Amino acid sequence: SYVGIHSTGFRDFLLKDELVRAITDCGFEHPSEVPSATYEPCRKLYLHAVAPSHVSRSLVAEDWFRWRSAVAGCTRGGSLQQVTIPQAILGNDVLCQAKSGLGKTAVFVLATLQQMDEKPEPGAATILVMCHTRELAYQIRNEYNRFAKFLPDVRVGVFYGGTPVQKDVEMLSNKDTHPHIIVGTPGRINALVRDRHLRLANLKHFVLDECDKMLDQPDMRNDVQAIFRATPQHKQVMMFSATLNKEVRVVCKKFMQAPLEIYVDDEKKLTLHGLQQYYMKLDEKEKNRKLNDLLDSLEFNQVIIFVRSTVRCTELDKLLRECNFPSTAVHSGIGQEERIKRYKEFKEFQTRICVSTDIFGRGIDVERINVAINYDMPDKADSYLHRVGRAGRFGTKGLSISFVSSPDDEAVLKSIEERFQVELPEFPEDGINSATY
Ligand code: ADP
Ligand code: MG
Repeated sequence: SYVGIHSTGFRDFLLKDELVRAITDCGFEHPSEVPSATYEPCRKLYLHAVAPSHVSRSLVAEDWFRWRSAVAGCTRGGSLQQVTIPQAILGNDVLCQAKSGLGKTAVFVLATLQQMDEKPEPGAATILVMCHTRELAYQIRNEYNRFAKFLPDVRVGVFYGGTPVQKDVEMLSNKDTHPHIIVGTPGRINALVRDRHLRLANLKHFVLDECDKMLDQPDMRNDVQAIFRATPQHKQVMMFSATLNKEVRVVCKKFMQAPLEIYVDDEKKLTLHGLQQYYMKLDEKEKNRKLNDLLDSLEFNQVIIFVRSTVRCTELDKLLRECNFPSTAVHSGIGQEERIKRYKEFKEFQTRICVSTDIFGRGIDVERINVAINYDMPDKADSYLHRVGRAGRFGTKGLSISFVSSPDDEAVLKSIEERFQVELPEFPEDGINSATY
């Protein structure tokens, strides 16, 4: 029952009991509350929109009051989920930028599940979520399963390339197996829509995760647009990313109607405060030995090592295993089934060292990664931000080290420091105290 003084909890969002129970089972206590003391929540977000006028009509008085205080909490040091979930469950369009690891996934997963009919119509998809990589699609599907645990009638399906399309077609042609929630990558989804295996006439929610990435790449954007055209006009559109420059915001908003817009007003506020970031200047040929030393001396739970190409990924992974570091590799040259298998093993802590191309550079959430190494410097500051954000998720501590070996690398390093106003010191000769990451 409601008492006068309370801190905002998921219950205050007036979520279905089945969702609240699933949230509790997931170990979520408060919306985006962060354990790290150095973390400063809501000053990183600013809110454009005010509560839409129909809110007060659709909720009874006490609910309205709770809803208001839940939202008010956010402007006084609350956080992403406190701002966004209450708005999103009302069906408003949402364009949301929030830094890595803050829990953007739960916003759209909870908001869409909340709005779903208790007994969803069989054979019709009402929710479509798309993202830029297959592993991320797979991860999002699992998040839906996690939160829909107590909603036994809800079916979720994941669709992406590199797997036999016939299986997808079979699943979609049977009313009893047809998912209500479709998660996937644009290429495969578009193929299924084009060949009329997937009908989106009943769609109510259209979500893009890592939206800037999806709309930046022409081929992916074309697929997204084609899919969008196959959906009904009246629907909720939500998009999320940690990076949303001014140009891409305009593109995103073309898909939306009067969205709630949440941006990080100042790029330096995208800095992850629990994350210590360093660089190391060295020659290309010194990289392997240095990496070896680091893996020997660092106390990592799990480490992700980013490289620039598929070939380098394969080679480095092989080398590490030869040096008795049990690593795994993930890149686009690996068969899809094997890729998912490796993702799963890494996520489940069966492997602790992962060498990856940019495939794992965004969105991937592996709880125990506390060290991220740029064996090859990324070519853009944005990619850097996403990559190092794999460590130190949800406000936890972490460490990132970037190898700088060319003038180009140095230029990127400089642009990172300028744009995000972080100080990236050189990694100290004698290492750092392991208690700090
Ligand atoms: P983002 O997409 O913003 O980078 P994710 O959605 O991947 O972040 O969430 C990062 C991690 O934080 C996930 O492991 C997720 O389960 C966890 N998380 C999200 N919201 C909460 C919460 N309210 N309480 C505890 N953990 C949370
Ligand atoms: Mg994410």
